[in-house]
This record gives sequence, structure tokens and C-alpha cells, in this order.
Amino acid sequence: MSGVPTHEHARCGVQRRGIVLGGLASLAGLVPRRSMALGGARTPMEADPSFWSQPRVVKVRNVDTRQQGEFVYWRDGRYVMDEYYALCALGLDRHAMKAVQIAPQVFDLMFATQAWFFGAERKRTMHELTSMYRTPDTNKAVGGSPRSQHILGRAADGRLQGVSVGVYAAMLMSFKAGGVGLYANHVHWDVGRSPEFWRGKKKEA
Ligand SMILES: [Zn+2]
Repeated sequence: MSGVPTHEHARCGVQRRGIVLGGLASLAGLVPRRSMALGGARTPMEADPSFWSQPRVVKVRNVDTRQQGEFVYWRDGRYVMDEYYALCALGLDRHAMKAVQIAPQVFDLMFATQAWFFGAERKRTMHELTSMYRTPDTNKAVGGSPRSQHILGRAADGRLQGVSVGVYAAMLMSFKAGGVGLYANHVHWDVGRSPEFWRGKKKEA
């Protein structure tokens, strides 16, 4: 199996279909030369066909609230609900003080890219999140697109420590899981729609 796995999660109401993994080769233009080691590395799914069967763990820090932690949100074929909920809570809309269930595939992308980084660099890294869930009001206040996936709990903004935003965007794009936006200091990723890539000038999605 490759790509991002299917999710059937009753409580979340989220159903995902498997996504075919694309290579990084077609995205070579995005990958700065200095980071070619990472960009040229085999994805963890290519290196290990049972990649998605292992425990899925993400290490993450919310830049605004400074909350951080390491969460094993899936193991032995099922969600670890308290860890999953804790992850969703970490991505709250801090203006409205409201959290919702985040599409698990958003976390799968974080898990897979962290594992990819570890495979290439032999050291651990973490995500720095700048935005995940947004209420419609907050979304409007920050100038988000009216059709933003943040409102639906299907998007995140942030970066992966130790990786340039350009390389990180290329890594995310290779999963073809949805939209990827490359901005000056962060990357936006969302899931559950047709793959799309844009650079920062477009209104924040
Ligand atoms: Zn965004």
C-alpha cells in the first residue's frame, strides 16, 4: 500500500479513499539545491510497504498557544481516541476557543513527513503549527478564503522544523492528498479535494 491510507472513522464522519503516491521528481523545481538530500530521498512508503501499519505518531507545537506534545493517534489498526482528540484540541481556534474534529488525513500527512525526514536525516523533527481549525468568523477576520478548508477541519498551516518551506511543500504535494499552498514562512495543506498547488500570493486558503 502506498499513499495516504483510507480512513473510516465513524465518530469523525470522515471517509477517505486511498491516494496514489506520486514521486518528487516532477516537483524537482520546487526543491532548493541545498536540500536535495531530503528531496531525493525515497519516501517512507517506497522504502517500507507496511509503512501505514506502524503506530502513527506526530510531534507538534502550536506556535500561538505554545502547547506541544507527541501523540500516538493510531496504532494496531485503530485510533487512539484520547490522543486523537488531544491533537484536535491542540489545533483549536484560539480566538473563538473552539476545537473540532480534524480530518485524520491532516495528521497522516504530518506523521508521514516526519517519518520521511527521519529516514533521510536520521534525526527527529517536529511540526510548528500556526493554524488549524478556524470558525467562519475567525476565517473572515484573518482574510481566509470563504471556501477555506480550515473551516471544515481539513487544513493546517505550519512548517516542519529543519526543512525549508519549499521542500516541505514539495513533500506534501507528493501525497496528492489535496491543496498545498507555499507562503513565505509557512505551508498550507488540506485534504479531501483535488490536488492543487499555489504560491503565497493567492489569498490564504
Ligand atoms: Zn491555510
